[in-house]
Amino acid sequence: MKGVGNAKAALLASLGIYTVRDLVEHFPRRYEDRSQIKKISQLTDGNVESCRGTVLKVTANKTRRLTLTKIIIQDDSGRAELVFFNQPYLKTKYKVNMEVMVYGKVQTKFFPVQIMNPEIEILDEAGMPCAGTILPVYPANEAVSQRWLRNLIRQSLDFALQQPLESLPASLLLQYELLERKEALLQVHFPDNWEVLKKARERLAFEELYLLQCGLLYAKNAVKKDVLGIKHASDGSLVAQFEQRLPFQLTQGQRQALLEIKADMEEPLPMQRMVQGDVGSGKTVVAAIALVKTVENGYQGAMMVPTEILAEQHYQTLAAQLEDLGIKVALLTGSLAKGKRKELLQALQTGCVDIVLGTHALIQEDVCFHKLGLVITDEQHRFGVRQRAKLQAKGMMPDVLVMTATPIPRTMALTVYGDLDVSSIRQLPPGRKPIKTFVRGSDRRQLVYKFIADEIAKGRQAYIVCPLVDESEKIQAQSATQLYAELQETYFRHITCGLVHGKMKNLEKDEMMRRFYEGSIKVLIATTVIEVGVNVPNATIMVIEGAERFGLAQLHQLRGRIGRGEHQSYCILLSDNPNPESQERLQVMTNTSDGFALAEQDLLLRGPGHFFGEQQHGLPDLKIADIVNDLDLLLKARRAAYETVMQTDEFEKVRPYIAERFYHHFDQIFQC
Ligand code: ADP
Ligand code: MG
Repeated sequence: MKGVGNAKAALLASLGIYTVRDLVEHFPRRYEDRSQIKKISQLTDGNVESCRGTVLKVTANKTRRLTLTKIIIQDDSGRAELVFFNQPYLKTKYKVNMEVMVYGKVQTKFFPVQIMNPEIEILDEAGMPCAGTILPVYPANEAVSQRWLRNLIRQSLDFALQQPLESLPASLLLQYELLERKEALLQVHFPDNWEVLKKARERLAFEELYLLQCGLLYAKNAVKKDVLGIKHASDGSLVAQFEQRLPFQLTQGQRQALLEIKADMEEPLPMQRMVQGDVGSGKTVVAAIALVKTVENGYQGAMMVPTEILAEQHYQTLAAQLEDLGIKVALLTGSLAKGKRKELLQALQTGCVDIVLGTHALIQEDVCFHKLGLVITDEQHRFGVRQRAKLQAKGMMPDVLVMTATPIPRTMALTVYGDLDVSSIRQLPPGRKPIKTFVRGSDRRQLVYKFIADEIAKGRQAYIVCPLVDESEKIQAQSATQLYAELQETYFRHITCGLVHGKMKNLEKDEMMRRFYEGSIKVLIATTVIEVGVNVPNATIMVIEGAERFGLAQLHQLRGRIGRGEHQSYCILLSDNPNPESQERLQVMTNTSDGFALAEQDLLLRGPGHFFGEQQHGLPDLKIADIVNDLDLLLKARRAAYETVMQTDEFEKVRPYIAERFYHHFDQIFQC
């Protein structure tokens, strides 16, 4: 591009721009409305407004620290003073009698009308006629001026628009009344009016979502179409026995999910299903039944969970239920001793173990299965797409089930997990008492501890979760240790407390959890390692310190550790943050227990990036579509994509565009 040498290229690179195409697709962050040009006398203090006038006078004053340039302009209604800091070159650029267009913040405090550091343009200057229109404002940084970027993008559009650019089938343009790509690109950068801008954005967002959905649906179908998976037989006596022995009746939601899972498993095509259910909705038993089914058919099952504590707990629950039925269950985590590990790997490879539960340790390279029939990942939001794929690759097209307690808003589910079918368990098992939630300043801490002591006297147990610290697990562990020591010496002198954090040896951690589960430890002080899955029905109090640092979805997960038994449970959010925004966020927790609603709030408040925490989340990078607000468009795009993927020749036409746009997202599951 003209005017882009090494130095400028480096600046552009800092914005992620390397090619002309990147420029063309560097979409405006927002737009400024300059269609309203005001008379100088009508400018209002405090507003950002446009006016035009003739230059009367230009002065530059140099003080020790800065250069102050003032330009006085005039129209038929009055005069305005434009004030610029440290732009001495303006003095030579603007001359008396020039016509200029000005856009900036109006101030009427000192001079009748002052405009501070405005954007200013000479009207008869060659170049973009931007004043008096809708002006794009780009994502940029200090070193890159909007004006320069705007010019460069204009140039690259001129260049790019000479070539064919359409990426969508003509039939789609017609059917969904979409602008052509060229027109859309032009209008999204330099819109003629707000209406056409809306259409342009819609077209480009549709395209983005459509290509993504084509990729996801293709990936899903490719797995299903090209490769034969395992066809499980309909339920036999093992599954029946297991179901009969359950100490409770399955809920309607659990039964429905199971019907869908079993139907998938009985198909020769590999299952790709997600079970979504709020904390405590009883997903584990659904997984267990699916595991029994695969064992009944002569296969092995593997279930991967994000933490050792959870692996251990699932292991204990399942082993107790399954070994009676003659099913061999094993546990594989990073802390398994070398010799034991070797033995276990051997047993997995020869098929002596039927079901294995484990952490990431399951996807290490030397883990091999004899005949893997079903792969389950629990708390899927803690894993990336890759990790799921890795576990899956340990078998020959095993059935895949992913479970998540984070009720993922629909847009996000379709975007991140668009390659999965979804079963939802909407209700909780009967008889649960709603948890009472309070927000308290930490000046009330003493009362909170007193309350805990009272509940413990009644036989209950409590969790206290330490603040989330960004820096490291180590610091988090330290703060937990400190709180533990403090409480044990003061408020809880006569109460047995326990401590779990991520830096403890697994043996110690397990021992603590075991003692808490048995009830000998009454108060468990912990970091977020207990966030997922842990199940101790007698624990009825959850205190969360520094609650404002957590996302709503995460608070909801933590709160999900209690309210699991017959007794009334209480969640107390301690927070000292006077920031009204976070107070408001915490208040949301007190009046809703609906995980879906909370997740949606979280997404709105904190944006998609934060939604899943720092963990790899598998969110594709979208340039223009908005994962929160474009649900309607997404549904349309998905429908269109579905039709395309069904017709091989149609799909082949868009395949290169998918590859181009979403290469990184699909590099593993979709080799273009
Ligand atoms: P999550 O969906 O959060 O993983 P769990 O599977 O851990 O939930 O289940 C939470 C608790 O509910 C467990 O103690 C489990 O035994 C119990 N549970 C599950 N299903 C039912 C049911 N249908 N009726 C009663 N209790 C149930
Ligand atoms: Mg669970």
